[in-house]
Amino acid sequence: MGKPSKKKLCKLCKLKGLRKESVIYMKEHRLALCEEHFKEWFEKRVKETIKEFRMFKPNEKILVAVSGGKDSQTLWYVLNRLGYDADAFFIHLGIGDYSDESMEKVIELGKLLGKKPYIVKLEEDIGAGIPVLQNFVRGTACSVCGRIKRYQFNKIANDLGYNVVATGHNLDDESSSLLANLINWNLKYLARKYPVLPAEKGFPKKVKPLVKMTEEQIKLYAQLNNIPFTERSCPLGDTASLHFYKDVMNLIENHALGTKYRFYFEYLKKVYPIFSSLKEELIEGELQKCKICGQPSPSEICMVCRLKEKVKQQKEGS
Ligand SMILES: [Zn+2]
Ligand SMILES: [Zn+2]
Repeated sequence: MGKPSKKKLCKLCKLKGLRKESVIYMKEHRLALCEEHFKEWFEKRVKETIKEFRMFKPNEKILVAVSGGKDSQTLWYVLNRLGYDADAFFIHLGIGDYSDESMEKVIELGKLLGKKPYIVKLEEDIGAGIPVLQNFVRGTACSVCGRIKRYQFNKIANDLGYNVVATGHNLDDESSSLLANLINWNLKYLARKYPVLPAEKGFPKKVKPLVKMTEEQIKLYAQLNNIPFTERSCPLGDTASLHFYKDVMNLIENHALGTKYRFYFEYLKKVYPIFSSLKEELIEGELQKCKICGQPSPSEICMVCRLKEKVKQQKEGS
């Protein structure tokens, strides 16, 4: 055990001649802030990100994809706090207690905000949850789950007339996945790695307003504002490689402060335009409309409609 470290004083309070203990010291900005000033700083930075990347206008209806975790819950909260018209959509994945607890947190935050979240339960909509559905498709539980989630978000956004879907991806997510995708030269992914993707081919616009905020900042902001969230991670998910790349990024960050931010945002500025210009060539396959549900799909019948059919067959067969 080392000496108890003395807390730094808030830099902004100090400018006003006040001595107030900080709640956070952000090394990369050399900035210590008290609770009040940190909240202000956080909200201002999110607002600037929205403007800088022209994510949406003040009067646009936004649908936030919430999971019950700290990032998406904070996003839903902060957008409302900034005066945007943001609703939430939650997918109950049918993964036991994990899904139930996540849903409770979403409903709880909805009550605080005076908003009712849209909720779809896979067990009702498709007839089974992820633990069963993963057996019907090739690929890991995470890849199946990701595809089902994307489908549901696109569908509900289209059905309810939301032009913008927002997700809670943060700087740690984006910089570590950029690293992983560069190491594997996953060009298809790199060509779409941007905090704003325009609406196209039947998909709504997709935005990531928390892309400048770190996990630490988001968690603290959530705690200071008493935002309900679950700390559990999905029991089916294999997150080992995700965590590995986050650890690597943090190792580099500790060696050279500000690298995480520079790595990601310099990529957006200098490299993304090159990959993005190849998007048409890299992302192969024309999308058509699913013959059953009408959603964009690479095949005649989309994956979700095929899953519904398989679940039905299995129930009839047993
Ligand atoms: Zn202060
Ligand atoms: Zn379909």
